[in-house]
Amino acid sequence: MAPPQPPTGPGDLEFGGPLGTAAMLLLLPATLFHLLLTCHSGACSLVSLPPELPPAAAFWSPGALLLLLLWLGLQAALYLLPMGKVSQGMMLRDKSHLQYPINGFRCLGLTALLVGLGLAGGLPLGSLSELLLPLASAATAIAFILSLLLYLKSFTVPPSALAPGGNSGNVIYDFFLGRELNPRFGFFDLKYFCELRPGMIGWALINLAMLLREAERRGGWPSLSMGLVNAFQLLYVVDALWNEEAVLTTMDIIHDGFGFMLAFGDLAWVPFVYSLQAQYLLNHPQSLELPVAGAICLLFAIGYFIFRGANTQKNTFRRDPSDPSVAGLETIPTATGRRLLVSGWWGMVRHPNYLGDLIMALAWSLPCGVTHLLPYFYVVYFTILLVHREDRDERQCLQKYGLAWREYCARVPYRIVPYVY
Ligand code: NDP
Repeated sequence: MAPPQPPTGPGDLEFGGPLGTAAMLLLLPATLFHLLLTCHSGACSLVSLPPELPPAAAFWSPGALLLLLLWLGLQAALYLLPMGKVSQGMMLRDKSHLQYPINGFRCLGLTALLVGLGLAGGLPLGSLSELLLPLASAATAIAFILSLLLYLKSFTVPPSALAPGGNSGNVIYDFFLGRELNPRFGFFDLKYFCELRPGMIGWALINLAMLLREAERRGGWPSLSMGLVNAFQLLYVVDALWNEEAVLTTMDIIHDGFGFMLAFGDLAWVPFVYSLQAQYLLNHPQSLELPVAGAICLLFAIGYFIFRGANTQKNTFRRDPSDPSVAGLETIPTATGRRLLVSGWWGMVRHPNYLGDLIMALAWSLPCGVTHLLPYFYVVYFTILLVHREDRDERQCLQKYGLAWREYCARVPYRIVPYVY
């Protein structure tokens, strides 16, 4: 396994360099709050002027901050429980490997148990729907403070511990991208912890809160639309945690430092923006005919089949190329000793996993109907994110694999959508 590339030089900046990242530091939180306010407004229009701002007090509550800190504390305590296996991460620049606890799925199970017990004991989970704004403010504040602490901490580690892309020397750029690759306190890996646990499980919990509040309002069962959105997104979260080990080979873990981009993304953006469909349905109920629901389920199943098939194939191949499920696939050798798959899912397009992910994103937006743009914000944002991410990955692969990567691109000309892109 090849160690990551050396640190990026100042002339090799991403995301528009210091100016682009400075804009994103402001625009990402502003977009989050604009979406939340729009979603909860009557008109719910993304294309008209922003809704009237509520009083400043609506954005902040010590109770919401305390709740969020308790949530982070609970997830951190569960992370530290000695359960499940411990896995080795990819090789680092100093040729060492870090150890990671693979207990995310168990943590999800324990969280579900605690929530279930709480609900049986009368926990008013549905009232989370009234706390979303102050909770999002608290998450944003925590992401800023955490990123600042991470930035300062990064000056205490040796150069070999820095991320390939986040140590340009520009304060804003490095604060945004993250200087240190794997900031840790002992066994507690901050980036790995944030990547799939508090935000992803929080997303499922917010969805559940919307469902419970909707069921209360309807005096019984939730709507079919709300049920589908909850089921699809819960499956996505459960799948991510069930396959937690796969995160160890993703760009976030092996390439990107831990800075504002990932801290804000994991702690604020994922739980509050990814739950927009459920929030929308609570405020703008939609009815769904059974045949339409069936067609949406089929679309989701196709997306999931592609997404899971592609990710499992690559992860299996990277962990053990002689595994019978991948041993027969055609490959291209590279100078690093690693091979590139050129048949199976990875022979169809260069990022089949992104294609499946996008199809699922569309499927879980469709239960919201077609009267408003807001539930489709995720599809548009996610398409931009994945097209940009694909481009970043291509450049990194070209650096890593050179001519072999060019041969792969010639053999598999489409990036994400066959015959289209
Ligand atoms: P990928 O899992 O797509 O991994 C890209 C890496 O795979 C490359 O750098 C290369 O690394 C390896 N690779 C590329 N082509 C081949 C090939 N032909 N044969 C073998 N290996 C190859 O990276 P991501 O981290 O971007 O995505 C992981 C999953 O997470 C995806 O399903 C994506 O959709 C999802 N995702 C979801 C997000 C969300 O917010 N919901 C956000 C981002 C991602 P190497 O050769 O070094 O192994």
